[in-house]
Amino acid sequence: MTERRSWAEPWKIKMVEHLRVTTKEERLAAIKEAGYNTFLLKSRDVYIDLLTDSGTNAMSDRQWSGLMMGDEAYAGSRNFYHLEKAIQDYYTYKYLIPTHQGRGAEHMISQIMIKKGDFLPGNMYFTTTRMHQELAGGTFVDIIIDEAHDTESEHPFKGNVDLDKLQALIDKVGADKIPYFAIATAVNMAGGQPISLGNLKELRKLSLKYKIPIVHDMTRVAENAWFIKEREDGYADKSVAEIVYEICSITDHATMSAKKDPIVNIGGFLATNDEDLYLKAQNMVVMYEGLHTYGGMAGRDMEAVALGIAESVQDDHMRARVGQTQYLGERLLEFGIPIVKPIGSHGVFIDARKFLPHLSQDMFPSQTLAAEIYIQGGVRTMERGIVSAGRNKETGDHNRPKLELVRVTLPRRVYTQSHMDVTAESIADVYARRESIKGLRFTYEPELLRFFQARFEPLD
Ligand SMILES: *Cc1c(COP(=O)(O)O)cnc(C)c1O
Repeated sequence: MTERRSWAEPWKIKMVEHLRVTTKEERLAAIKEAGYNTFLLKSRDVYIDLLTDSGTNAMSDRQWSGLMMGDEAYAGSRNFYHLEKAIQDYYTYKYLIPTHQGRGAEHMISQIMIKKGDFLPGNMYFTTTRMHQELAGGTFVDIIIDEAHDTESEHPFKGNVDLDKLQALIDKVGADKIPYFAIATAVNMAGGQPISLGNLKELRKLSLKYKIPIVHDMTRVAENAWFIKEREDGYADKSVAEIVYEICSITDHATMSAKKDPIVNIGGFLATNDEDLYLKAQNMVVMYEGLHTYGGMAGRDMEAVALGIAESVQDDHMRARVGQTQYLGERLLEFGIPIVKPIGSHGVFIDARKFLPHLSQDMFPSQTLAAEIYIQGGVRTMERGIVSAGRNKETGDHNRPKLELVRVTLPRRVYTQSHMDVTAESIADVYARRESIKGLRFTYEPELLRFFQARFEPLD
């Protein structure tokens, strides 16, 4: 038993945004109109929005004043140089290419580094990352440890790479068919699970031996660092900022969705230590995003990112950030709800296979559960299961992920502990009536990233 002592967020609220409380009838009508897809709900029909932590964050008064310091010059904005310095100081990378969000950076690095027929080993796939790898002609290969696919395993670093799986891939296809190792920190699709620095250092040895660079999906690197501080030998006395610095220093290139860790509403970047890659990306960014000193972001937004990076690596911030997620997870466990353990950093992941054991994967258990949680309490969550996994590009059949999850994701600095209580109670109410819940079938299935726009109807 770990003893729980109270602590509170290292900030107070200066401005509020009103929420609309709806009736169950209104919610039933809204989810039907949305094709039982929480992505298609209107925000005004949602009470507590835990769809995503992406761009939903509350900025600080300092970041808001940073917006007023926006230098909207087409070329050479001072905010670009400020952001570049923040990336060098906190993340170690020398060169910066701003993008409109993370996938802009994924697009460029994939097009520059991947050749048709290449293989991309990674510690679990991410939706947009894999799509860009495939669009560039590559094939993603999952090299995460087996424990990551087991919702019961309490492994402290479920984001770790299985080095034997990686070695086996290198032996099979040859190092020249592997343009880079795609490594994410705080692995989103595994439930916000961290990779250890010990594992990353072992991976580095392979990277140096075979001269294969590491591309770091650093979207939640500071959240990962918090878990290293709490769980990895030798890091308890290090600050989050120091650990973030160390992680970044043993990787070569990075893609960032600034809508996550850096506590802003829009933005992203590609960062690298490699001048050659930098020059290629600089060339490409003007085609797809904008000039290389703004790359799709307004000057004011680059300023907010620069300030947000500094705030995101503060220990007090991260204690509250991850602490709130742990709180929600523990409340759900008290209600007996099956969730992925250990509780991750950015959200709590409900195990829909265990929650709705009477629904087969073809009845979309996670999609169904997300719709029911909305109907129950106006709480918006999202599917992370067979719908998100898409179809196999060769066979046309569904990709069938082992994990069938509903992600309950926490925006940064937005909701209070009482919101977490209401959320847990709503999910417990759905759990109490779980046996009467029926599945869904597709009425419209988009070709790419289908989970965003797919529509469904109830079976029966
Ligand atoms: C959100 C996310 C991305 C994509 O970033 P966008 O800003 O949404 O384009 C890439 N990787 C991970 C792990 C993410 O969570």
